[in-house]
Amino acid sequence: MAKLYEPTSQLTFTDNQSEYAQKVQANEMNPFKSVYLSLLNLGAQNLQTKRQKKYVRITNFVAIVTVLGTLSYLVFATFWENWHWLLATLSLTVTCIGVLFLNSWGKATLASVTFVLGFNLLGFLTILIMGPHTLGTNYLFIALIIPFLIFDIKQRGLVIFGITLPLSLIYVFDYAVPFFTLYQLTAEQQLIMQKLGIVLQCILLLSSVYQLVFYSNKTEKELENSNGQMQLQTSELKRSNSDLEQFAYIISHDLKAPVRNISSFMNLLVNKYGKTMEPEAREFIGYSHNGAKRLERLIDDVLAYCRIGTNLPKTVPVNLNDVVNTIRFESREKLGANNASINVPKELPVVNNVHASLMYHVFQNLIGNGLKFNKKEKPEININWSDSLNYFTFSVSDNGIGISKEYSTTIFQMFKRLHSEQEYDGTGIGLAICKKIVEYYHGEVWFDSVAGEGTTFHFTIRKF
Ligand code: ADP
Repeated sequence: MAKLYEPTSQLTFTDNQSEYAQKVQANEMNPFKSVYLSLLNLGAQNLQTKRQKKYVRITNFVAIVTVLGTLSYLVFATFWENWHWLLATLSLTVTCIGVLFLNSWGKATLASVTFVLGFNLLGFLTILIMGPHTLGTNYLFIALIIPFLIFDIKQRGLVIFGITLPLSLIYVFDYAVPFFTLYQLTAEQQLIMQKLGIVLQCILLLSSVYQLVFYSNKTEKELENSNGQMQLQTSELKRSNSDLEQFAYIISHDLKAPVRNISSFMNLLVNKYGKTMEPEAREFIGYSHNGAKRLERLIDDVLAYCRIGTNLPKTVPVNLNDVVNTIRFESREKLGANNASINVPKELPVVNNVHASLMYHVFQNLIGNGLKFNKKEKPEININWSDSLNYFTFSVSDNGIGISKEYSTTIFQMFKRLHSEQEYDGTGIGLAICKKIVEYYHGEVWFDSVAGEGTTFHFTIRKF
């Protein structure tokens, strides 16, 4: 039976699988192309519109081209030991790499403004150090095109800023040259750099024009193709996942009736012929009966696990105080008999977009475990919560036996138990159910624990 199931993380459909699909996708691609597309795509994946994605990708593109261009200058600056030139060029290279990082952190506007500032100001400094005969001002003319590439035309202020900056620098260039004569390259070196400069300027100009004209056709198409393939693989994974769950559901469902039969015929056997049986025979039947009961519980839990997320009604606001009060009421006898208590120091929130039945399962499993795995005279459960912009975080603490840290991930796998059936009863599915429910609401579940002092399970629920 256990072989049917893999750990929950593989059974449920999560973002991990789209990551997997991406890896498969990347493996099939030429590695250079894959690195190039990854760099080009930095920060674009999380954006909503194609338009926003386009500007981020072009900013990445011009930053990559500039980094590649500056590399040749770095080589010459080192070779000719012109450390001022090296420093200015290196600052430009680092700024462009910084632009890629800013995009990957989702700071798209800051990234494009940084690129414009870096390309113009540090580029200006670089060409002043190189000298007036290197035709460096051509870079500033190319810089006039860049705002149209990396800013949305609707961001008029930024576009005007992006044009005004290089225009002003072109204007002041001749006045600034005399201040840099001390650091300039020799006439011969300037001539060599002029030739290299023309090649680099042509590359930068052509690639900028290429981006302007062909971007929306080619790169977008390529990226869309790869996205399409990724979606295909993802939906394939989704389908095989739901097949597997369906399979588990059918098997469990069909097993229920025969297991019940075994259990009730064992009962019948003991009731009818118990008195005439040898004590050993009665003992053996007792074992079989317990086995059948346990199998029945396992099947019920597997079914509960498979049912999570299926046939759910529309979400309504759920008052979690009611959920915990129901659990408290249902376990009142057990609580009284064990001197146990369930405390909620701060009234729990009303949570939208969840289902009362699923929240009940989570709290019931965690509270139940906190009371079960507990040897204290007064077992205590404390429920706390906090909230942030997007998530509610709940914690269920107990003063029980504790769980070793090494089980921090495996404990949530199906059928994982740390104790024998004789020590503590159970099926090992409760925490897997909690994890699946919490992930259904885009949250996470984890625990901290001190051996002998207790365990706190934390879980988050996304607010919308
Ligand atoms: P079950 O309770 O049916 O055994 P669970 O999936 O709920 O299954 O828990 C898995 C295992 O994790 C338990 O068998 C137990 O060893 C451990 N465990 C869970 N909760 C606690 C807790 N609060 N304190 C100590 N151990 C716990």
